[in-house]
Amino acid sequence: MELVKVTDRIWYYPFEKERDRPILGYVKGDDWSLAVDAGHSKYHTLEFYSALEKVGLPLPSITVLTHWHWDHSFGMWKINGKCISNERTKDHLMEFKKWYLEHDTEDFLALDDCIRREYKEYYDIRKNPVIVTVPDILFTDEMLLDAGNCPIRLLQTEAPHTDDSTLIVVENEKVLFLGDAAGGVFPTWEKDPVLCRKLADTIEGLDVDICLESHHFPQTKQEMIDDLRPVQ
Ligand SMILES: [Zn+2]
Repeated sequence: MELVKVTDRIWYYPFEKERDRPILGYVKGDDWSLAVDAGHSKYHTLEFYSALEKVGLPLPSITVLTHWHWDHSFGMWKINGKCISNERTKDHLMEFKKWYLEHDTEDFLALDDCIRREYKEYYDIRKNPVIVTVPDILFTDEMLLDAGNCPIRLLQTEAPHTDDSTLIVVENEKVLFLGDAAGGVFPTWEKDPVLCRKLADTIEGLDVDICLESHHFPQTKQEMIDDLRPVQ
């Protein structure tokens, strides 16, 4: 797969349904680059890095997690540079790390067929267990980064998918990375209407044009809001 260019500073590596791989975002500042989400496994992360190298883009110095779910975070142990998340995302990853120590690999693969497909193609998982790591840098509520003439705002927000969503706003580009924030809860995909409305209100207040969800094609801000606030 090849990177998709969104603006002069933003690209993404496309999502894949088969293995439930999310998009991996890339923001290029004048001084350093940032990735959105670490990848489903180290193979996903390394595939993304090859795609960056192929077009001459430097590897990200910072990776920001949109939330803790395995398809976004379990490639973290292979990332270049440091990883940032909100504190709650770290807490969930710590909990999962504990869960993984108390279970076996088969229990992990049995959580979802997409996880099984992500790992089975590559190796004997019993010899190469999943490695769960936690982020290096933590924030609560909000954090502002500047990659070099490229301010990037991280916003911890209430959302229907999980209780640890981070929105990533690339301000000058007017692009918002949402992760899975607008989705329902795993595995029923039910959506709490109050949290949907709250997220719609948050998005409405942001000065963005393009919304990038992890498992969908890009949408406009209005399309995103309309999805979250269906006509009664
Ligand atoms: Zn998720």
